[in-house]
Amino acid sequence: QESKPTLDTAKQYVNEVYETVKKRNPGESEFHQAVKEILDSLVPVFAKNPKYQNNAILERIVEPERLITFRVPWVDDQGNVQVNRGFRVQFNSAIGPYKGGLRFHPSVNASIIKFLGFEQIFKNSLTGQPIGGGKGGSDFDPKGKSDNEVMKFTQSFMTELSKYIGPDTDVPAGDIGVGAREIGYMFGQYKRLRGGNEAGVLTGKGLTYGGSLTRTEATGYGLVYFTQEMLKTKGESFEGKTVVVSGSGNVSIYAIEKAQQLGATIVACSDSNGYIYDKDGINLETVKTLKEVDRKRIKEYVNNHPSAQYFEGCENIWTIPCDIALPCATQNEINEESAKILVANGVKYVAEGANMPSTLEAIEVYLNNGVYFGPAKAANAGGVAVSALEMAQNSARLAWTFEEVDSKLVQIMQNIYNNSVNAAEEYGHAGNLVVGSNIAGFLKVADTMIAHGV
Ligand code: GLU
Repeated sequence: QESKPTLDTAKQYVNEVYETVKKRNPGESEFHQAVKEILDSLVPVFAKNPKYQNNAILERIVEPERLITFRVPWVDDQGNVQVNRGFRVQFNSAIGPYKGGLRFHPSVNASIIKFLGFEQIFKNSLTGQPIGGGKGGSDFDPKGKSDNEVMKFTQSFMTELSKYIGPDTDVPAGDIGVGAREIGYMFGQYKRLRGGNEAGVLTGKGLTYGGSLTRTEATGYGLVYFTQEMLKTKGESFEGKTVVVSGSGNVSIYAIEKAQQLGATIVACSDSNGYIYDKDGINLETVKTLKEVDRKRIKEYVNNHPSAQYFEGCENIWTIPCDIALPCATQNEINEESAKILVANGVKYVAEGANMPSTLEAIEVYLNNGVYFGPAKAANAGGVAVSALEMAQNSARLAWTFEEVDSKLVQIMQNIYNNSVNAAEEYGHAGNLVVGSNIAGFLKVADTMIAHGV
């Protein structure tokens, strides 16, 4: 390309790459969506500097370095042989070992794993930590499985996965359906297979074998620290705000905990069947016991709290009026219609704890209606950031205090916010954190890929 690029030629270039992605990855709608969001944000970067296009960075970054799929056979409690499919996408290792969680959920397929892995590249870059992008999982459904079945499945899963991971190559952690129990079983199996204790191969470990304090809380706390920065910009705080948090898993629980500590009232949370509403604020201890200890449905909450109401259908949680919405459940949980209802009911802030919980149309609704929007890869980066701190402690064979890790997390979330705000401003989209975080995350990876050669 001889002539200097303009916004128009950059737009055309981005569209061509997007069409190729669709052709090469047919039917993978979630992956297409994640790629589109990033590509559209990067137009001003390509218009300003031709080096990225000249080095075909975009064409390279949308293609995973490697996608591994494998068979996971296991025996259930009735003695029947079950077969699931396992995945690991090793998307980009420019700035560090592949890093990203494992998701166990029946919806898991190549599209979901690739969208998550692609997002992880930019999110991990934003944390400022030396971690590349990866993701994995299985279509195994942990719901209703016995402890023994979960152990059998995770051991078989790790038997295959262990061939591809290691503390300096690829470091998995948890995501939906994978928590402390599953990480424990997987670590045990990896250790058995390797015949040695490589602490840094997984993060989100238990505290007795190399886990980090604050890792459990990190995604939820980080989300609230990030939202606090958004509020500060507008001269506000969590104090006295009405907040709706979807989900009731690890992200949701610790977002609720921190927002409550900061004086907000959380009026609702949910699971995949429905949601609970209490205008006076939900009781977090009950939610914790239900979900973390008893592994029961959120419906049971009303048994202990008759003042609360339970409603079937989790998507209707967005009809509840609130100042701040924190979607912490799953991808595409807020569509255009739900976004419009949130806006009509006066929402002022939306910050994403889940990965890609808003559709592209929903994001348009926020941006066109003055809602201040914190996108997932910036707002929920606290989890993986503390995972990187866990790796650092494992390498040093040290354990930091809760306060040490927590204060590093606060600092990281503030940096992500400031870097996103500054990048948005520099590239002509002041106040747009989607554009800002995508650009800030991209530049570090892209410049490193150029430095490493083709
Ligand atoms: N699953 C989390 C995420 O979406 C954390 C990944 C990690 O700690 O590696 O970022």
